[in-house]
Amino acid sequence: MLLTISTTYQPATDLGYLLHKNPARLQTVEVSGGLAHVFYPEATAERCTAALLLDLDPVGLVRGRGERGGEGFALEQYVNDRPYVASSFLSVALSKAFGTAMNGTCKDRPALPAEALPLAVKVAVVAAPGPDWPRRLFEPLGYQVETEAYALDPTQPAWGDSQYYTLHLRHDGLRLQDVLTHLYVLLPVLDNNKHYYVDQTEAEKLLHRGGDWLPRHPERDFITRRYLRYRALYVNPTLARLLDADELTDEADAAAAPAAPANPVPEAATDPAAAADALPPATASAAGDQAEARVPTEKTSLHDQRLQQVAQEIYQLAPKRVLDLGCGEGKLLRLLLRQPKIDYILGMDVSHQALTRAAQRLHLAEMPPRQRARIDLIQGSLLYKDERLAGFDAAALVEVIEHLDPGRLAALEAVVFGQARPGHVFVTTPNADYNQLYDTLSAGTFRHTDHRFEWSRAEFAAWATAVAERHGYQVRLVAMGEEMEGVGGPSQMAVFGL
Ligand code: SAH
Repeated sequence: MLLTISTTYQPATDLGYLLHKNPARLQTVEVSGGLAHVFYPEATAERCTAALLLDLDPVGLVRGRGERGGEGFALEQYVNDRPYVASSFLSVALSKAFGTAMNGTCKDRPALPAEALPLAVKVAVVAAPGPDWPRRLFEPLGYQVETEAYALDPTQPAWGDSQYYTLHLRHDGLRLQDVLTHLYVLLPVLDNNKHYYVDQTEAEKLLHRGGDWLPRHPERDFITRRYLRYRALYVNPTLARLLDADELTDEADAAAAPAAPANPVPEAATDPAAAADALPPATASAAGDQAEARVPTEKTSLHDQRLQQVAQEIYQLAPKRVLDLGCGEGKLLRLLLRQPKIDYILGMDVSHQALTRAAQRLHLAEMPPRQRARIDLIQGSLLYKDERLAGFDAAALVEVIEHLDPGRLAALEAVVFGQARPGHVFVTTPNADYNQLYDTLSAGTFRHTDHRFEWSRAEFAAWATAVAERHGYQVRLVAMGEEMEGVGGPSQMAVFGL
């Protein structure tokens, strides 16, 4: 599929600065399912066009769908519209290739992102539920909209038009950031399909990208429902928050005051483990109602993704005895239990309530004796030396350190790295550099009310390196979740090894 953005702003080649992509060079970024190429078919002072060509591999998309791979019709992997239609794949490509522009940042020309530009956009092709839908979605945002329809079969005029259109949008003056954001949200809405699992992260993305314009859009409900794939669990609270934002803007307008920020809770309002809990379990979702899930690695929530990444790293070391410190309600424990080569797993948490939930979720009471012998849950605090933690090959602390006062980290360090000394330690924590992408999060606030701090990548690296040095470990830092240009992933991990 091909997307072009043209401008006649003078000098038009400023588009290259805005997009952070040099007009003279072809650039390629890897995206799930294929490659996105960025190039400039024209780049003169009068007129400049940037093109994003998304080259998806239809066979690759269908492979790796696990249990779903055999469903659909026999030739589905060779005959599907995914490589040609603007969809959620294009949104991911837009955020990967033009993430900085979408966030309104331009290092070389800091004033440029605020400029309203005359812009023309062409998307070949979009799928739409009817010819009037592109208009209904884009006209309220000030675009002139034209669609070119295609006959279903040129040899059979009686069959009428297909659901595919080339879309032309024009705007006399709009920030590039806004155009990219509108496309990011609305192209998958037209397509009504998603290649990954929809969860709370998607709801936050919609609030983040649509917060400025969606509350007042006449098709707000339609857009929200389709963007979130009709999942009531996410659609209803998101609509409520959009309505709140609308009312806040109304009040602010009336008082001629700046708009109040929307609800500043981007990750989860409650316990992170409990929030992830609201999702269907991994096994049910693989076999369930998500026809849209094509790339298994992207169909999980941020928290599940984090846990899977940690579990994966742990498996690779083939440890026999594993500790989960601050195990919460036992999501990582469940993943570890599935690994038969791990002989023994010990989960520890300071919260009795969390441990009770973990025992229920893991069905400890009903476990066959041999399986039951592989796992124990204990109550304890990471701030006090504890003999029970000695003699393990690996230990995980997933999203735990940020729940402690910074002054207590030295005690945790002494307990984990000084006394227990597992062969490897995996520590994850949110990446504060990423918080700027959540514009619902005002400066100085955290993603979760119980977080005592959130570290930038540099702060986390400084802590991890110092800890490793003091206790004779090696350490490497790993980004977690989908990385965005300039800010890293939503979460970060330090992997320590003796
Ligand atoms: N690792 C889990 C839970 C993260 S929430 C997951 O990723 O799903 C943080 C957990 O750390 C909570 O369950 C909390 O009870 C626990 N915790 C906080 N302070 C602790 C301490 N001093 N010792 C042990 N656990 C602690």
